[in-house]
Amino acid sequence: MKTEQVRCWRTGLKGELFITYPEGDMGHRLICCTACGKVYAVNVTKQLYIEPDLDAHLSGKMCIGCGAALDTNWRYYPEHYLDESGKLRAFERTQIIPPDEESVIEAFPEVFS
Ligand SMILES: [Zn+2]
Repeated sequence: MKTEQVRCWRTGLKGELFITYPEGDMGHRLICCTACGKVYAVNVTKQLYIEPDLDAHLSGKMCIGCGAALDTNWRYYPEHYLDESGKLRAFERTQIIPPDEESVIEAFPEVFS
């Protein structure tokens, strides 16, 4: 997996989570490994053309953070994330996109590259 630069915003109570707002067929979604919490990017355009079914695409892929099978250990992030104690928690996504000037660029391993 190669890393891709992802435009996202810091969110969550302490600003510790990242959130993306892909538009149409552009941008990135984020997923996380539910075993270790490692965050991955999903390039929406690549997903559309290569394999829309993420379970199928992640079949046989291992988490680069912990080695767990990704197809059975992924959830959408930050709707689901691991807290500091390793507990899987839920975060409610807001539909209001924060201002552009508050966005940050982060690098995440991208599952289609
Ligand atoms: Zn992992």
